[in-house]
Amino acid sequence: MKALVIGAGVIGCSVALELRRAGWDVDVVDKNGDAGHGSTSASCGIVRRFYSQPGMIAMAHEAASIWADWAGYLGPVDDGLARFLRPGMLFIPPRIDDAARATLAEMQRLGIAARLLSADDVAREFPFLDTASHHPTKPVADPEFFEETGSRIEGAVFEEDAGFVVSPGVATHNLRRAGERDGVRFLLNTEVTAVERNGRDAFLTRMNDGTARESDVVINVAGPHSGRVNRLAGVELQLETRALRREVHLLKNPRFEEGSTASLPIVGDLDGGIYFRPEGGGRDVLVGSTEPACDEPEWIDDPDDFDHNVTELYRERQCYRLMKRFPEVGYGAARGLGALYDVTLQDWYPIADRTDVPGYYVCIGTSGSSFKTAPVLGKLMAELVEAQRNGVDTDKQPLQLALPRIDATVDTSFLSRLRKPNVSTGTVIG
Ligand SMILES: Cc1cc2nc3c(=O)[nH]c(=O)nc-3n(C[C@H](O)[C@H](O)[C@H](O)COP(=O)(O)OP(=O)(O)OC[C@H]3O[C@@H](n4cnc5c(N)ncnc54)[C@H](O)[C@@H]3O)c2cc1C
Repeated sequence: MKALVIGAGVIGCSVALELRRAGWDVDVVDKNGDAGHGSTSASCGIVRRFYSQPGMIAMAHEAASIWADWAGYLGPVDDGLARFLRPGMLFIPPRIDDAARATLAEMQRLGIAARLLSADDVAREFPFLDTASHHPTKPVADPEFFEETGSRIEGAVFEEDAGFVVSPGVATHNLRRAGERDGVRFLLNTEVTAVERNGRDAFLTRMNDGTARESDVVINVAGPHSGRVNRLAGVELQLETRALRREVHLLKNPRFEEGSTASLPIVGDLDGGIYFRPEGGGRDVLVGSTEPACDEPEWIDDPDDFDHNVTELYRERQCYRLMKRFPEVGYGAARGLGALYDVTLQDWYPIADRTDVPGYYVCIGTSGSSFKTAPVLGKLMAELVEAQRNGVDTDKQPLQLALPRIDATVDTSFLSRLRKPNVSTGTVIG
């Protein structure tokens, strides 16, 4: 049986490897010159388990075990391997409410080392962080932006062994090499221009170089181009994906110590509207946004046409917010990049499912937070494809995905195309 995977990002490469492991003959097509040169190349690679959906907490926990055993997961590859650094991650939700407590309880139930800190605990354990509360986050232009708020954060959740992968591009190349070793073919510099039915049970996928490939199944893993590829295949979903432009900025890390990468944890500051982590061996701090309601989202209609550079608007927003939380940081020169998320508009969770066109699958809408779960999503997609081949209607009998490394099983219907929107923060945090 032949599978054609559209997109050689971290998820496309994971899907391809897992399908190959399940015995499929796999081609991966990408219009770029190498794997991982799409939105994956801009990823911050953060691996945390703090999510509002229990299913995603479990999948991210399984994935963390894979990243910690990357060489074992891949098997022998002739490539320098991505590294997984684990300085821990501090989440500062706007409130320590029932939702935050439920997330923490679920993490602890799964054996994740996470604990609740009071504002005083945060001040003691991370004295370089300011514990003022800034919720609801204000726009930089607000005259009160820099004013004292007079209130403190309610507390934080510290996930002790959260971390990040250095680098997402290297990790994706590792997956490509592992796939090739096992027989996956990569058709690079090749753009899919049409996906047509070829008889009842097969597809003919046309490329921009005039060639075409036959396959039994097609899997859309096209990242921010996911909606466009669905249109090429004439596939409509009730959930909508859309490209959202984001920026990440780099500033000097005032706490840098030569030879140490643990001077700074990762911080998910939903109270302040940002996330940040150490970068460049700890020399820099990288800062992104958690989509506070006061910032107008920048939806992009053409994912081939957007500004890849940083802009003054985002720089002020993200860097000034960082400087409020981490006052030792100085402003410095503009450094960073612009990139796209592929967002599931209704709930910011991926859509990993079959479609109403038999044999056509999607693993899309990854909403800025699915680098970490790529190997698990790859396995999920391979099992979905296998289930359909064996005559199982996964709409009626949702796939129960085994997560062997954490000894759990996850009901994958929360990633179905037919789901009611999941409870979510409606941001990259999920
Ligand atoms: C700035 C930023 C920061 C992020 N930070 C994190 C993080 O800290 N942690 C985390 O877990 N996740 C993070 N993410 C999200 C994560 O990186 C993505 O979910 C993941 O990389 C998506 O991988 P993908 O393989 O689906 O897509 P992509 O990497 O975008 O790959 C899709 C590929 O499809 C190809 N393609 C598209 N259309 C066609 C076509 N017609 N023909 C041929 N090829 C085509 C593209 O060239 C591209 O290479 C971040 C994302 C961004 C942008």
